[in-house]
Amino acid sequence: MKHAQLSAADAHRVYTAIAELRAILGARLSTGESVRGLHARDNSHHAGRLPDAVAFPETTEEVAEIVRVAARHRVAIVAFGAGSGLEGGAVPVGAGISIDTSGLNRIHDIGAGDMIARVGAGVRRLALNAALKETGLFFPVDPGADASLGGMAATGASGTNAVRFGTMRENVLGLTVVTADGKIVRTGSLARKSSSGYDLTRLFIGSEGTLGIITAVTLRLHPLPDTVSAYAQFETLAGAVEAVVDIKRAGIALGKVELLDAATIDVINRHSPESGLRSAPMLFFEFHGREEDIRPVADLIGEVVTAHRGVLSWAEGHAAQQALWNLRRDALGWAKADRAGARAWPTDVCVPVSALAGVILATREDIAASPAPAYIVGHVGDGNFHCVFMLRDGEEDAVHVFADRIALRAIEAGGTVSGEHGIGLGKRSYLEREHGTEAVALMRALKATLDPDNILNPGKVLPDADTQPYSIHAIQLGHIA
Ligand SMILES: Cc1cc2nc3c(=O)[nH]c(=O)nc-3n(C[C@H](O)[C@H](O)[C@H](O)COP(=O)(O)OP(=O)(O)OC[C@H]3O[C@@H](n4cnc5c(N)ncnc54)[C@H](O)[C@@H]3O)c2cc1C
Repeated sequence: MKHAQLSAADAHRVYTAIAELRAILGARLSTGESVRGLHARDNSHHAGRLPDAVAFPETTEEVAEIVRVAARHRVAIVAFGAGSGLEGGAVPVGAGISIDTSGLNRIHDIGAGDMIARVGAGVRRLALNAALKETGLFFPVDPGADASLGGMAATGASGTNAVRFGTMRENVLGLTVVTADGKIVRTGSLARKSSSGYDLTRLFIGSEGTLGIITAVTLRLHPLPDTVSAYAQFETLAGAVEAVVDIKRAGIALGKVELLDAATIDVINRHSPESGLRSAPMLFFEFHGREEDIRPVADLIGEVVTAHRGVLSWAEGHAAQQALWNLRRDALGWAKADRAGARAWPTDVCVPVSALAGVILATREDIAASPAPAYIVGHVGDGNFHCVFMLRDGEEDAVHVFADRIALRAIEAGGTVSGEHGIGLGKRSYLEREHGTEAVALMRALKATLDPDNILNPGKVLPDADTQPYSIHAIQLGHIA
């Protein structure tokens, strides 16, 4: 990856800031090419630029000092958590400094009685849950990857558990944030609810490092539930999705409900033939509670599944449950491995549950023409699904058009272009269509107030004036009819 040419004045500002930061951080400021390379990408397909330096702070005060230096020299700062993001949020697009939060890794406090934990932004979710093991509590938000809690707050992450426990928005009680002028702000409290003042906590959640750098997070914990798992295979994709809607309407509490389309089940059968699944759409369920509490609702679930031409089976015992959820975890990795040289391009729309079946079916029909195989999986209890393309070099334009249509279809259905991955670089072109001109103008006004020199993760979330959805751009260029 090459540096774009900096003007002499810009280069001077960047290198002066780096020299000042070196005096503060010593060896915890790296300008080595390999370290910068690791901070020039995340788990997405988005290419960026090498940061000019990577800072490794260990305290909130150090983050504040770094930001003050950057602010003084008007140098961009990009927060970097675990780099597991899927929309290029942590990928620098211009000159500047990456702040790696991995050194903010202290678990400050576990209040088992209040079911609260306060942790550094760099603490990973698996490390937190390991530390909670003895308490019988856990932090439920699970984005699949072993992300940092700061990164999860910054993206408004969720995942398979959200249907039961909510997303980061519902599970963060407060934050410590360094603002663009290097001030330290504490939001929220230890109380489980509050109607005191503007909700600054939720202003920063989902802001993807563009409004402040999160250095600590206060989290809501939950008792670790007993779980019972089941799965159902359906004749049709519509049957599977409609069954979820009816189960929710019947008031049955779901711990998790995941959709896998027939193409994904075919992958599972190739890699795990002992699973013996039919090539048909499938739901994986997890119910929370003791087995004897759940059994009485089993008949009701069976009735709903049968009404939608499905067959319900229970995963008996811990090992069978584990094996079932491992299939969900491994399926997309196997799908990628099946196509030599392929990489994944995941989409991430969320629509009202009543519109979900129609949107998924329209997507499945549309992607039949895709040159890259595509797999649909989803946290369907929330109306959130991912259509994941496994593309090879040269297929980017075609996949971009399909991904674009998926996003536009979600907006038309009253939904959102991002259920959980965020906007980053990848989804900026849809922001105005989804939220409207006035709402985006208000977002711009907030950004200008909190970060007037645009030093915090510039080029992310908010669209440039001429940004528009890819297919419209491609039609104008004559790339597609
Ligand atoms: C296999 C796989 C499966 C995934 N499944 C899901 C899923 O089901 N649900 C889901 O929500 N996500 C999912 N993701 C995406 C990803 O794990 C989440 O977006 C996660 O929240 C990112 O956390 P991170 O620490 O890796 O952040 P990064 O990727 O490092 O950064 C993400 C964004 O947050 C900003 N940021 C990071 N730390 C801070 C901070 N301390 N302060 C301010 N801004 C910060 C960055 O600048 C960037 O804009 C998946 C990713 C992978 C690889």
